Amino acid sequence: MTRPVTASGNQGLQLEQALIFEQDTPGMTAVDLPAAPKITERLGALKNTQAIGLPGMSEPDVVRHYTRLSQKNYSIDSGFYPLGSCTMKHNPRLNEKMARLPGFADVHPFQPISTVQGALELIDTTAHWLKELTGMAAVAMSPAAGAHGELCGLMCIKAAHEANGQGHRKTVLVPESAHGTNPATAALCGYAVESIPANAEGRVDIDALKAHLRDDIAAVMITNPNTCGLFERDAILIAELIHAAGAYFYMDGANFNAIVGRLRLVDLGVDAMHINLHKTFSTPHGGGGPGAGPTVLSEKLAPFAPVPQVVKVGESYIAEEHAGFGAAKQSYGRMKGYHGQFGVFVRALSYMMAMGGDGLKQASGDAVLNANYIMARLSTEMTPAFEGPCMHECVFDDRFLKGTNITTLDIAKALIDEGVHPPTMYFPLVVHGALLMEPTETESKQTLDQFINSMLSLARKAKSGLADAEFKAAPQLAPRRRLDETKAARRPILRWTPPASSAAKQAAE
Ligand SMILES: *Cc1c(COP(=O)(O)O)cnc(C)c1O
Repeated sequence: MTRPVTASGNQGLQLEQALIFEQDTPGMTAVDLPAAPKITERLGALKNTQAIGLPGMSEPDVVRHYTRLSQKNYSIDSGFYPLGSCTMKHNPRLNEKMARLPGFADVHPFQPISTVQGALELIDTTAHWLKELTGMAAVAMSPAAGAHGELCGLMCIKAAHEANGQGHRKTVLVPESAHGTNPATAALCGYAVESIPANAEGRVDIDALKAHLRDDIAAVMITNPNTCGLFERDAILIAELIHAAGAYFYMDGANFNAIVGRLRLVDLGVDAMHINLHKTFSTPHGGGGPGAGPTVLSEKLAPFAPVPQVVKVGESYIAEEHAGFGAAKQSYGRMKGYHGQFGVFVRALSYMMAMGGDGLKQASGDAVLNANYIMARLSTEMTPAFEGPCMHECVFDDRFLKGTNITTLDIAKALIDEGVHPPTMYFPLVVHGALLMEPTETESKQTLDQFINSMLSLARKAKSGLADAEFKAAPQLAPRRRLDETKAARRPILRWTPPASSAAKQAAE
């Protein structure tokens, strides 16, 4: 399966894409501008003598450039995207339509409050449903993403401890299987981080947790369902232990998609939890945004929530900006400009209203069913890391590759040749050679079967030992072959510098 080398470098109708600066034809332009009027030059020595460095291109070339770039960007709109932990699901177009309504899209946070009553009501209504779905006392709407919501929760916890004379609590406990943002958040908030091991079942080891609980522990951060795709069955016991030790229970709620409509966090004893609106409540995300991470808070933490807070006073809404008033009596302050990610709130509310309570409950059920379907069918050739059933994602380890020359990475790269975006790999860290798959509720059985058939055929091929060279060379059909991903992440080249000869040529022109 070697690809022919073409004269153009293009592969079929996959065209090679030069950087836009490399496509520069000096003097070429996409628009005809009227000649500039004569002016008296007053810049003196400041007058620019060099080319300004913008590429000259025709309109069709600009259109093609950006269209081709967009086609290289794999997305949930192009195909199945089983990236575990990311909840890449279909984003109903209705939500987009709502977010683009001029009354929502064109408001500005500096407008007089009387002219944005509808927008504030929308924030308040979204907050209402988030409290309703979690049973929690309050919600801080301003965090801009999941990790930012974690920071909000920990800052509330820190403020509460300080207000209660517990400022000596300087350590946060995080299970080994935690999402990387959890220890990072705790460290950013100034806490020391201690890790609690997982037990053989992939859940928090209760005895280890007990052994770590001391009077300097500020909080325990637990993802539930956890990153192994498992529900922490002992959540209530965990909450009791944490509270008895005088610490707070932070639950990472990024996996809310698996439980929405089915349980109330308040019943688990949770003190703070962020919700990734972009995951569970369907906003197109990936590549860094957009997102929103509202953080629901218990009775005890509610007074410390960040400002601004939307409050209804009589018949109108206000955005309370100062601590000491209204709900945010002891607010720790502000963590973001303005009121939060408004466009994401519009999408989330639109999604919730379209789904209804029964629809959200069915969505979490279908997400769990789909993951269990994948786990059951793949278990014939692959090795699930934990005994089932799972929640909304399933994780396999690499025992099924034992005795072969093939690694998890090779399988992931070969999947690209199959036309499948690889699942999350080598995460969670507690699973050796992990492949973490999250199908979400929005995929059909046909799509899941196609994915499963590709996975099964690769697993068989890997075990046959007959296709090692093919695996090691994969991906062969993608525009780029195997890259040095570590170097790309650690030393990205973000600035284009013209080759020396062309710079000299430009200056001369
Ligand atoms: C996605 C995710 C986060 C972080 O959320 P962002 O919105 O990407 O900041 C935190 N924890 C878990 C378990 C997640 O899946």
